[in-house]
Amino acid sequence: MPDARTHDMITYATAVALAPLSQVAQVSLLGLPQLAAWPNSAWLVIAHIISGVMFSPDLDLDSAIDNRWGIFFWIWRPYMWLVPHRSFWSHSLVIAPLLRLAYFYVVMIGLIIGGTWLLGLVGIVVPDYHTQIVRALSQISADHPDTVTAFLVGFCTGSAAHSIADWLVTGGKQILRRVGIRVTRDYRNHDRYVPRYRRRT
Ligand SMILES: [Zn+2]
Repeated sequence: MPDARTHDMITYATAVALAPLSQVAQVSLLGLPQLAAWPNSAWLVIAHIISGVMFSPDLDLDSAIDNRWGIFFWIWRPYMWLVPHRSFWSHSLVIAPLLRLAYFYVVMIGLIIGGTWLLGLVGIVVPDYHTQIVRALSQISADHPDTVTAFLVGFCTGSAAHSIADWLVTGGKQILRRVGIRVTRDYRNHDRYVPRYRRRT
């Protein structure tokens, strides 16, 4: 499997390639004018990079990716425990990235509700941020459906670039093995994976 740095390079390279592709698709298939298509392409590329770098399929493993979340790495712990490594739930092309996005959304809303409740216990009244966020997001989807679609497509392509690279490398190793070249199956270095208890802080 490519390591995190290789996956990052693949993410950035595919993002650059996607920008003109997205423009062509919107102009020729959807009939949008060039100028109207640019913001959607920009969102697609941004989502592609965020998805590949921060919401990588390898969040199903205690790897370099959850370290990128800094002190918030624990947000992904339940995901890591529940989702088997390289399974359909983390490495499929469409369901997996959307599941990660939904998971992140649910965790964020849950944390805000929990925080509001805890502050309420000590007498601090906080505005209902969770309902405001839900309302704002549904408003954005209603007002800018094209932008939201572009973001979701980019979020899926960012994840797909990772999964496809994984599959290609695995397939390549199997072919090498079939022609008699032994490739060791080794997870020790996968995404520079180091068990948390052995990591330097
Ligand atoms: Zn992977």
